[in-house]
Amino acid sequence: MSEGFDLAIAGGGLAGLSLAILMRQAGFSVCLLEQKRYPFHRVCGEYIAMESWPFLQRLGIDLEPLKLPRITRLLVSDPRGRNLERPLQPGGFGISRYTLDQLLARQAQELGVVLREQTPVRAIVPTADGMQLSVGVGSHAEEISARVACGAFGKLASLDRQLRPAALPARSGVPTFVGFKYHLRTRFASDLIALHNFAGGYCGLSRVEDDVVCCCYLVSQQAFERVGGQRERLEAEVLAQNPYLKSIWQHAEFVFDKPQAIAQVHFAPRSQVQQGVILLGDAAGLIPPLCGNGMSMAFYSAKLLAPLLQARLQGQLSHAELTARYTRQWQRAFSTRLRAGRLLQHCFGQPLLIQGLLSGLRPLPALADRLIGLTHGEAF
Ligand SMILES: Cc1cc2nc3c(=O)[nH]c(=O)nc-3n(C[C@H](O)[C@H](O)[C@H](O)COP(=O)(O)OP(=O)(O)OC[C@H]3O[C@@H](n4cnc5c(N)ncnc54)[C@H](O)[C@@H]3O)c2cc1C
Repeated sequence: MSEGFDLAIAGGGLAGLSLAILMRQAGFSVCLLEQKRYPFHRVCGEYIAMESWPFLQRLGIDLEPLKLPRITRLLVSDPRGRNLERPLQPGGFGISRYTLDQLLARQAQELGVVLREQTPVRAIVPTADGMQLSVGVGSHAEEISARVACGAFGKLASLDRQLRPAALPARSGVPTFVGFKYHLRTRFASDLIALHNFAGGYCGLSRVEDDVVCCCYLVSQQAFERVGGQRERLEAEVLAQNPYLKSIWQHAEFVFDKPQAIAQVHFAPRSQVQQGVILLGDAAGLIPPLCGNGMSMAFYSAKLLAPLLQARLQGQLSHAELTARYTRQWQRAFSTRLRAGRLLQHCFGQPLLIQGLLSGLRPLPALADRLIGLTHGEAF
């Protein structure tokens, strides 16, 4: 068994990396375990709500030199291309996950976080004086001990099988989605995020750094199965019915040979603590991507959790008090936007519902803006 840490975090996405940085900034020893190696691409729309900007600065991430696109307009189209456009206030910015996660990982290492890449966490179990993590595989397998363990392992992870098997989509029967992400070179306004619907899903487009456009779509498992699970067929026969998407697929230069892909995405409510492990980011609750707020929620959950963990590690809170306070604060911060997100998710990808929603909102711009506002939070 290796030395013990104050905190061990399973998963080095935005939630895990930002929590690791906050806890190191406060002087605690942190081990962060990530199954992949940075930098790497992920399925994500790569639009970050402006509310996260000050938080990233406090983590020590200086985004100014990157001259990132500032996004202040939203265009939503139905599958036939009829659209609604609204200003986004305060809007967001575009940055690839390849770049952002790498910046955060470097910052964590510079501050002294023990960052173990290519090290999957296989199990987390409570011990008499903390938590024990079984990590790595084969000859790299080892045990790590920590006073507290957090799970920041994202939307769907093998760790869910250990920590909450009953909530797996295959067992709970919740509808699931498949996601794909491309990077494109094409003409596309730098201040715009577009959400184009098609039967069974929707596709988001917005700019990131280096003149690249991120193109990311989510499709229901059912709609994907209707085309035999063939992505090319889905794009040619279903996405292309929306004239905006048809034009993108006809004219854009695709940067990757193949898109990044993810399956088994679901939006059913999740628990924030499981078997003594405190969960954050998508592991604690996933907002539908059309809201463009999952990354900000990942950051904000780390911001909520860090002071509570510090109080716990300084002996000011019991584990039970820590988990009760975190769960309460998490629910207070996110339950409204999660409900609004699930409601919108229900309409998106349903041709009649989205047509009805857009026609209903066209003469009521204030209501449209209110709905958009419900999916976001205040700057933090
Ligand atoms: C199609 C789609 C589009 C989206 N678009 C947007 C958008 O435009 N804007 C927005 O704000 N949000 C968007 N989101 C949501 C956003 O991507 C997530 O909310 C955000 O990535 C959550 O961060 P996280 O740190 O919780 O998880 P992740 O970023 O998924 O990170 C989890 C990490 O844990 C690692 N991991 C998993 N299991 C283990 C293990 N056992 N051991 C070690 N490491 C492990 C993974 O490799 C990964 O690096 C989108 C989501 C989807 C599905």
